[in-house]
Amino acid sequence: MPPKASNTTADLLKARRARARRIVRALRKAYGEPKLERGDPLEQVVYTVLSQQTTSESCRAAWEALCAEAPDWDRVRRMPEPRLAKVIRPAGIANIKARRIKDILAQVKADFGAYDLSELEDLSETEAEEYLMSLPGVGQKTARCVLLFAMGRDSLPVDTHVARLSRRLDLRDHDGAAKDDHTALDEVVRVGDRGAMHVHLFRHGREVCRARKPLCDQCFLASLCPWHLTGGKVE
Ligand code: SF4
Repeated sequence: MPPKASNTTADLLKARRARARRIVRALRKAYGEPKLERGDPLEQVVYTVLSQQTTSESCRAAWEALCAEAPDWDRVRRMPEPRLAKVIRPAGIANIKARRIKDILAQVKADFGAYDLSELEDLSETEAEEYLMSLPGVGQKTARCVLLFAMGRDSLPVDTHVARLSRRLDLRDHDGAAKDDHTALDEVVRVGDRGAMHVHLFRHGREVCRARKPLCDQCFLASLCPWHLTGGKVE
């Protein structure tokens, strides 16, 4: 009997799930278990809005300026928009971010009667994610950052590093057309590994698997990496 073709969708998914398990095991061995401190979800939402399309240093500078200027959310919401944009200017696209922050604060106050998202703790991960994505300008990546970094949920936000590494490591389709990044990775990374996968791929993407000139000769994932093993043909 001829060997059964192994490139069916189910086989591919099975192979990717197995590779994802080996990858996260290797990442944990190298980097340890990520230490995720819980924080205030609303602070994380605003911080993540500030972090969009800018560097960590610029985001931090804008956040510190905002905290110094307006120590509570009511003060931020009441601040004239041009003034708020001026305060957070280090983060870039300040006019858009100022509008977004004020709209988010208004919606949270309207929904919960306070500038407080702690009621999200009572919701399932999917429900909390859906609520966060209903906030103005909050997409799935931002919502998942809040779930992971402020609420301690096992969530996998797909940022630029995670997206690049997941393609190189062949954990998802390469054209990106069939499924969005988050759905594709949720299918292959099991519950319990998702937060660790995000934190460690982010670090690995910054330190080793850079967009240009990845340091494959120093990479402990090389034996698991189709991109490396095929000479860069799979990305
Ligand atoms: S082997 Fe190279 S391409 Fe693959 S994960 Fe490591 S650095 Fe990235």
